[in-house]
Amino acid sequence: MNRMQHYSPKTLTEYHEIYSELRSKDIIIFAGGTDVMVGRYELPQDAIIIDISGIAELEGIEKKEDKIFIGSSTTLNEILNSYQIQNNIPILIKAIKTMASEQIRNRATIGGNIGNASPAGDTITPLIVLGAEIEIFSPESNQHRIISIDELFCGPCATTLKKGEIITKIIIPLLLDNTIIYYFRKIGQRNAMTITKASLSAIAKLSEGKIEWIRLAPGSVSPVVKRMSKTEEFIKGKELTPHVINQAKEIISQEISPITDIRSTKVFRMLITQNLLENCLKKIQFGPKF
Ligand SMILES: Cc1cc2nc3c(=O)[nH]c(=O)nc-3n(C[C@H](O)[C@H](O)[C@H](O)COP(=O)(O)OP(=O)(O)OC[C@H]3O[C@@H](n4cnc5c(N)ncnc54)[C@H](O)[C@@H]3O)c2cc1C
Repeated sequence: MNRMQHYSPKTLTEYHEIYSELRSKDIIIFAGGTDVMVGRYELPQDAIIIDISGIAELEGIEKKEDKIFIGSSTTLNEILNSYQIQNNIPILIKAIKTMASEQIRNRATIGGNIGNASPAGDTITPLIVLGAEIEIFSPESNQHRIISIDELFCGPCATTLKKGEIITKIIIPLLLDNTIIYYFRKIGQRNAMTITKASLSAIAKLSEGKIEWIRLAPGSVSPVVKRMSKTEEFIKGKELTPHVINQAKEIISQEISPITDIRSTKVFRMLITQNLLENCLKKIQFGPKF
């Protein structure tokens, strides 16, 4: 790592200029570095590190009309301490509270968690159910584009970003309805400093005892995080009786494709995803104290 060249642009224009000179090299984008440093020995020796954490345009949290814009270099602790996020996006607060430690959250960025594209990335499942959009800067065209977060991931730890492209903002549409219920729960080896074995993010609206709509995104149980459209469709319009909950658990088990790895087994992940769904649906039906 010591022998690697590194650059620290302060603006996107500077990033564009640096990239234009180095485009033929192996470029590693570095934000907080909490994932990059873990894999540093696997990086090519002649890789060029571009530290984007000083780029002013990538910072800050802003509410404009019915959307929240989070700069990609915003750290997890800055998000946790944001009044805007606490008031408007409680599911993101719930998820980030389970992540890493105080020290890691002071460096780790939301853009890095998304850019790492792990199926276990804990900000990803809430952003999927929130219907977030991702603003991307291309140093080739010197322009921005916006895509839905669903279009960003194409495999475990793989994105559809082209070489040099960086995430600049995360755009979250606000759900202006205070009856909406948010759920996030993560199962790991222990309660703190733990990577997800399986998790579930959900947003739902209950109306006259029935589910008007629900969005579900489990973590760490498929190559990319995605919505559970068949389970959502099945639950929609129904009262959450024990029979309905059992059927929903059966359907979600057919929508996920967990694997066995160093953190957990396929069977355990399947079982806890079903149990998380049951826990989520009971909380929606009977209230948060359930
Ligand atoms: C001890 C420890 C505990 C952890 N616990 C958790 C946890 O509980 N949950 C969890 O989800 N993660 C966890 N992590 C992983 C990591 O901290 C997070 O993924 C973090 O959000 C990464 O952010 P970063 O800024 O450090 O990313 P970096 O390490 O700088 O980058 C990560 C990846 O994203 C790319 N990247 C960074 N910024 C951008 C951008 N703006 N646009 C495009 N690509 C970009 C980089 O090139 C790299 O591939 C943990 C890590 C450690 C070391």
